[in-house]
Amino acid sequence: MNSIIIPNLKNVDDQILWICNNGTKVQYSTKQVWRDLRPIVDTKRWYHVVWFTHMIPKHAFIFWLAIWDGLSTKVRVQKWNPMVDDKCCLCDQVSESVEHLFFRCDYSKVLWERMKSKLLFKGLTDKLQEMVETLSNYPYKNQIWNIINRLVIAAAVYFVWQERNLRILQGKKRNVQDLVEYAQSYIRVKMLTFKVNNSAAVAKAEEIWGVQFKRK
Ligand SMILES: [Zn+2]
Repeated sequence: MNSIIIPNLKNVDDQILWICNNGTKVQYSTKQVWRDLRPIVDTKRWYHVVWFTHMIPKHAFIFWLAIWDGLSTKVRVQKWNPMVDDKCCLCDQVSESVEHLFFRCDYSKVLWERMKSKLLFKGLTDKLQEMVETLSNYPYKNQIWNIINRLVIAAAVYFVWQERNLRILQGKKRNVQDLVEYAQSYIRVKMLTFKVNNSAAVAKAEEIWGVQFKRK
């Protein structure tokens, strides 16, 4: 007891303080706590390929997971459970990996070819990582085709994932032509929210997609 330093109490109100990672004491706030507790990782060069104003949030989320290989594809599930059949449920021929499922499967290839035909993007391949890398090198200004390219690739991934889940979880199937029509009309509805200035690129996009954007 003799060794305890008696605090020098002053006639001031108590305060809740937070000791930051760097040792400084600051006013407690959830913001600072979150900053200190969350894992800090480098910003990915490609984040703007996924996250931007005109992106459809649920498409962005699935697209982001696909890029990280974070979706529960059968190949991934099989790593935890070797008893799982890893065959793609769209073609029942090949192991269901991200690259196969979204761009190389006979089913998704049809969807992807039809979606690609409405894009002006030279970096189109059947490799997700390659396309994301190419897109990440583009200036991420709100130029109309930059937006459409990212929107359409994310939609292609989202709708194939949705179809795959529909088959596994509900035992339902959609014809790929119907899915293409649905995916493209979904994108057209999103396009109706765009506000653009007149330009040759805008006129081309309107012609290809059969939509009329709002003018600023
Ligand atoms: Zn397949």
